[in-house]
Amino acid sequence: MRTLKIDEDTLELAESIINDIKASEDLGLLKCIQCGMCTSVCPAARHSDYDSRVIVKRVLDQDETLISDDIIWDCFTCYSCHSVCPVNNSVSEVIQILRQKSIENKTGISKVASFTTYGDSFLELGIGSIPDEFFNDMIKDIGKEYLELKINLDGIREELELGSIILPDKDLKDIKNILKRTGFIDRLNKIKAVNNDEEDTR
Ligand code: SF4
Ligand code: SF4
Repeated sequence: MRTLKIDEDTLELAESIINDIKASEDLGLLKCIQCGMCTSVCPAARHSDYDSRVIVKRVLDQDETLISDDIIWDCFTCYSCHSVCPVNNSVSEVIQILRQKSIENKTGISKVASFTTYGDSFLELGIGSIPDEFFNDMIKDIGKEYLELKINLDGIREELELGSIILPDKDLKDIKNILKRTGFIDRLNKIKAVNNDEEDTR
């Protein structure tokens, strides 16, 4: 049997992933044996050209084009790969870090821009909400019941004795402080600004 050894000179990308704050301490990225078990359970692989094994191979081959490749946005973050990998690698984590890099180099900004309305909702109400641009899709997928739920939400909550969805002022102030001090607001504004610039040049 022939054993292929990883070229240690081409591990910059892999090491930057292992050392990322989002990576688990014992992430087995360098131990990947290319067995493909992750791909066999991956729903994205079943329904698209996405292949989690190939993602890891490209990382280990120092293929930096992966960071700007649309394919990294096809993962559902379901963690199925994470639970079956025999060497404790997590393609799910690897992908999240690659996406982070993609946002940092700006190629991924357009992919997350639509979610800035989640951020706006956190800031305004202290809770998340479905981005406005998905509203019609939700009605299409769920049916007119979704629209009725949105329209009658206050009444339904009252009937179920759930109280108001609006948080008390003090809690809202605490959430805003957390979002400010963790850099969430700055990051949100940066993503919006870059996306607006990109849209202007289109
Ligand atoms: S299951 Fe783990 S070891 Fe196997 S190819 Fe996927 S990442 Fe590599
Ligand atoms: S987390 Fe992503 S890569 Fe892993 S199984 Fe789910 S869709 Fe596939």
